[in-house]
Amino acid sequence: MEQRDGYASLSWDAVAGATDYQIERTPVAADDAPTGPASIVGVWRPNRTVRPDSPVFADAGFNAGERFQWRVRARIETAEQPFSAPVFGSTLPPFGDPAVPGESLRTQWEQTEAAQFTSDTNEYAYTAALDAASERVRVVRIGRTVLGRPINMFIIGFPTAPRHVNAVAESTSAFVNCNVHGNEPSSREACLIMARELAFADDPRTLAILSNTTVLLVPTINGDGRAANTRGNSTGQDLNRDYSLIRQPETFSFVEMLRDYQPETGFDGHEFGNSQAGDLPVLPPRHLNVAQSIFDKSLRMIEGWFYETGSDDGWWYCPYGCQNGGDVGLSQETILRNTMGLKSMIGSLLEARSAGGPTRPNETNAPNNRRRKTYSAIYTYQQFLDYQLAKRQPILEAIDESVAFQTSNTGPIVFRGSRPIPAHPAPHPGEAPPPEEPPEGVLDPPPCGYRLTEQQFSAPQPEGRPVGDRLTAHGIKFAHRTGRGDYFVPMDQAQRGLIPLLLDGEAAEPILPAERVAC
Ligand SMILES: [Zn+2]
Repeated sequence: MEQRDGYASLSWDAVAGATDYQIERTPVAADDAPTGPASIVGVWRPNRTVRPDSPVFADAGFNAGERFQWRVRARIETAEQPFSAPVFGSTLPPFGDPAVPGESLRTQWEQTEAAQFTSDTNEYAYTAALDAASERVRVVRIGRTVLGRPINMFIIGFPTAPRHVNAVAESTSAFVNCNVHGNEPSSREACLIMARELAFADDPRTLAILSNTTVLLVPTINGDGRAANTRGNSTGQDLNRDYSLIRQPETFSFVEMLRDYQPETGFDGHEFGNSQAGDLPVLPPRHLNVAQSIFDKSLRMIEGWFYETGSDDGWWYCPYGCQNGGDVGLSQETILRNTMGLKSMIGSLLEARSAGGPTRPNETNAPNNRRRKTYSAIYTYQQFLDYQLAKRQPILEAIDESVAFQTSNTGPIVFRGSRPIPAHPAPHPGEAPPPEEPPEGVLDPPPCGYRLTEQQFSAPQPEGRPVGDRLTAHGIKFAHRTGRGDYFVPMDQAQRGLIPLLLDGEAAEPILPAERVAC
């Protein structure tokens, strides 16, 4: 047993013929005498790991700092075998010395022991206090929501946060978009806690990460939806169907941030309403216009890093969809996961499973359920930063390869369609990765560019800002041909894969139909 950041990692020897294992937890006093009833908090199945003979379970359904006894028993079919001898441990308290200013900050969620989520005003106060207390942290406002709430971003570096956007663009940076769907708040709480850890932790790992990578955390892009506990923003728009179209001020601001800060890698935090799924469904950008190098590196991060470390530490990753996953994880370029791939960024979405389900039966207790989601999200983002540090050079090479490929404008363009994600490692019992999605709407050879009239480029649109403003926000290059009275968007540029999706009348969700220009 090891005590970690918000969870206990329990491991035991496999039992021959075991179908699964039940993990029991009992609260105990300092002298290890029980202070409450035992409960089964986990069911560990061999399909939750890439090492089925080495069971490890991550338990996070408790108040950090309390002391427990744990026992494990195998089940053969449904027959319960004897419990193991107990182990006892005091879990780690929340990060930060309560006697040290700054470190002593706590979110509303922490202060209420996960009974309440952190409100908007508490978020702003905590954010401003962290900004003031740590040289490593600088907070900028990257935009405002429809209702005028600030969209803040933590910029975290060592020994000090970079002072200017250009300094971040020129360095290596990694972003987490913590809460786009307002009713999926667990990663937002994770990011607020993680910002404090990054601001004050002095362990070699944290210092190495921050010495090499600027960390960009956007806790709440959808503050209006979070305040109302709704998926969409205040207009009802699902913002994670708007990252290419950027009709809403929230997504428009976020895409401008990506253009200006130029992160190499990113993660998008969600929750998944599927109680059969793993703890942590993940998925890379897979639209067929995403360069092979970006897809490969993103999938490699998931399969070569998260599946491995998750198996070591007891967290159950799976490809989004997982078990009984349905039609999820497709190629819509409106989803940030795909948009970032089309911008040559390596990354993934995270879909923390909403309910405890059959493998975490103790989570009918709502705070315990919230703790598991938030601390497993912190784990995921910590691993993401470890990956970025370990693989910095291959990441940069994959990005260079992607930009060179896109700029060359070679190979077909598709409007929709996804690269396949096989179950990993095959066969992985009970696992159903996202569905196949063959290409639809193929342009082969690709066009050389798109022509927009002055009117198309500049006129007000029924939804969102004029097209020219949106191309500029994306950082897509264009030429104003005053002699011809039009605008030309060439395909031989870094965001080549995105351009036809925005400007071709045959695309699934274009902004408008511009004129396709053949080579
Ligand atoms: Zn979501």
